[in-house]
Amino acid sequence: MFCRIVSGEVPAEILHEDAEILAFRDINPQAPHHILVVPRKHMDSLLQVEEGDMHLLGRMHQVVAQLARQNGLVDEGFRVVVNTGPAGGQTVGHLHFHLLGGRDMRWPPG
Ligand SMILES: [Zn+2]
Repeated sequence: MFCRIVSGEVPAEILHEDAEILAFRDINPQAPHHILVVPRKHMDSLLQVEEGDMHLLGRMHQVVAQLARQNGLVDEGFRVVVNTGPAGGQTVGHLHFHLLGGRDMRWPPG
C-alpha cells in the first residue's frame, strides 16, 4: 500500500517529500494531527532495519520534528509510534512512523 503511495500510484495528501522520505496524513486519523512518515525504501517493519539505514532512520526523526513544528505541536507536545507486528497493531507491511498530536495522549497506550 505505501509502496503505491511512494510511487505516486495512490494519491495522498503529501506534507513532506524528499529523495528518501514521504509524509502524508493518515486517511483514518486517530488524533487531530495524524501524519505518517514513510521511507521510500521498502522495509516490512523495524525488524528489517539494517546498518546502512541508520542515516535514513535519523532523517525520519528530523522530518517528524519538522512536521511537529509546522503543525504547531511543539508547545503542547506530540507522540511518535512505530507499530510492529500483529500484537503491536501494525496494519500496513511497510515501515512507517505515526506522528500524533492535537490531543492529550494516555499512558499506557491501548
Ligand atoms: Zn512497501
